Amino acid sequence: MNIDRNLDTVIVGAGFAGMYCLHKQIQDGFNAEIFEKADDVGGTWYWNKYPGARCDIESMDYSYSFSDELQQEWNWKEKYGTQPEILEYARFVSKKFNLREKINFKTSIVKARFINKKWIVQTDNDLIIECKYLILATGNLSTPNTPNIEGISNFKGRIYHTGAWPEKMPEFEGRKVGIIGTGSSGVQSIPVISETAQELLVFQRTANFSLPARHSELPINKRENYKKNYKKYRELAQNSSFGIAKYQPPTKSAFDVNKDERDEIYENAWQEGGQAMLFAFTDLLTNKEANETAANFVRNKIRKIVKNKETAEKLCPNDHPIGTKRLCLDSNYFETYNKENVSLIDISNHPIQKITKKGLVTNDIEYEFDDLVFATGFDAMTGAVNAIEILNEENISLKSVWSKGPKTYLGIMVSDFPNLFMITGPQSPGVKSQMILSIEQHVNFIHDLIIHKKNNKYLQVNANRNKQDEWVNHNNEVANATLYPLAHSWYNGDNIVGKSRNFMPYVGGVANYKNICDEKVKNDYEGFEFL
Ligand SMILES: Cc1cc2nc3c(=O)[nH]c(=O)nc-3n(C[C@H](O)[C@H](O)[C@H](O)COP(=O)(O)OP(=O)(O)OC[C@H]3O[C@@H](n4cnc5c(N)ncnc54)[C@H](O)[C@@H]3O)c2cc1C
Repeated sequence: MNIDRNLDTVIVGAGFAGMYCLHKQIQDGFNAEIFEKADDVGGTWYWNKYPGARCDIESMDYSYSFSDELQQEWNWKEKYGTQPEILEYARFVSKKFNLREKINFKTSIVKARFINKKWIVQTDNDLIIECKYLILATGNLSTPNTPNIEGISNFKGRIYHTGAWPEKMPEFEGRKVGIIGTGSSGVQSIPVISETAQELLVFQRTANFSLPARHSELPINKRENYKKNYKKYRELAQNSSFGIAKYQPPTKSAFDVNKDERDEIYENAWQEGGQAMLFAFTDLLTNKEANETAANFVRNKIRKIVKNKETAEKLCPNDHPIGTKRLCLDSNYFETYNKENVSLIDISNHPIQKITKKGLVTNDIEYEFDDLVFATGFDAMTGAVNAIEILNEENISLKSVWSKGPKTYLGIMVSDFPNLFMITGPQSPGVKSQMILSIEQHVNFIHDLIIHKKNNKYLQVNANRNKQDEWVNHNNEVANATLYPLAHSWYNGDNIVGKSRNFMPYVGGVANYKNICDEKVKNDYEGFEFL
């Protein structure tokens, strides 16, 4: 086999994970390169250019902390970063740290095989690279899921997926638009599309909880004050459950207060905006009755906002505890259903039968439209990893090892796949946290592990199988002590037909998780085997 390039490290993906990973590698003299499918950096914020795309975590938090110079230099303009602003930030970082020259854009990694203590990696343009370390920064939400509905190819209008939105924003002026999906991307895009579309038909399979973001510009004095105290805020974030400085663990149960007091707390959280409500009480995610108090509060808000009673009831989520699916934040989502040009079509009991030339059929009724938008999410957490054919020394594929669900050690390594690392992989807090914080923690951990291996002249590092099993069991135990598994969600793989049902993220909190990782290091990298 002809090797075209010899590297220390191949990093797959140029989102926030890949970029920070590359920066660390370059800093310590490793010969590392990124391979990225897109023609630019940014990952999520490159692909999700749909109208209204925005971060659900305040921009002062959702940013890198590794460089004080960077966090002092960059000025966020809005409370919650918009997709263009976050993409601009990613580009700024890539230039500031001279990363772009080490990024191979428009290049996908399609195959990797571990042979003679090296990874042999293949790209979609037939480049063969040999490297010591293969780091997957492929993203948890980077493989768009388009449901396999009969007749899709018959549709004569324009088709879009929120997760692969075109560079040039399509005009919806004067057009009739159908949108399938009311998760985060749907909740963000529906109000914006409704502003210009002549008519918007929303096809809803599951009603979702959404809280008002209370979005605004970011006042300069607030921003500057935050910057002065960044160290303190970053520490608060690291010591929290979800990696967000202002949401510290609550101390009271929902039943430590009476109904009036509870509703006042919920009302204040609703008015404040963001996810504050979920952090009001200790037991909202562990006790069904406690959860129901918050869920009911939100349902009553929906009933007050949406004028048409029937539509309001359809928008009230009843099939999962609040917070157990990705909680949406919105700007006038429920208000949108009061507009004359917006209709909600409940498909919960009448799945889409087929897509036709002019629209779609559900409950034997054909709905016609010019444009069809899929806001149907992603093959989350395992989709991008499984899309690469990754073979270990025994020629066994990672996809086959994960056929009944992902198994990892700390969400970082998989037993019998030496020198292969994942950033925010399954069974780590990743998607249940402020992700840039989790990304930085993983990159630091992986980087230190590689340096440890190198300094000790080991050729490979592998995750111990028993320790991996223990970690997977622990992950399940922690999840089963909560209400999360009760929801049909992408956390469980439920949105993908045929995907094995497993609760994938670690929900023990980022502070606990980091302590566990630090303990492993202290115990001489417990669970990692060096050769
Ligand atoms: C709409 C949306 C809103 C979000 N909002 C929030 C939020 O409010 N807060 C939060 O913390 N997180 C949020 N996230 C999660 C977000 O994904 C992370 O915050 C973060 O951007 C992940 O960075 P990453 O580098 O790990 O992955 P990504 O940004 O997904 O980057 C992965 C990159 O890998 C590339 N890639 C994948 N496979 C290959 C391959 N085989 N070959 C070459 N390239 C490959 C992809 O093209 C992509 O560019 C959101 C995600 C979405 C989709």
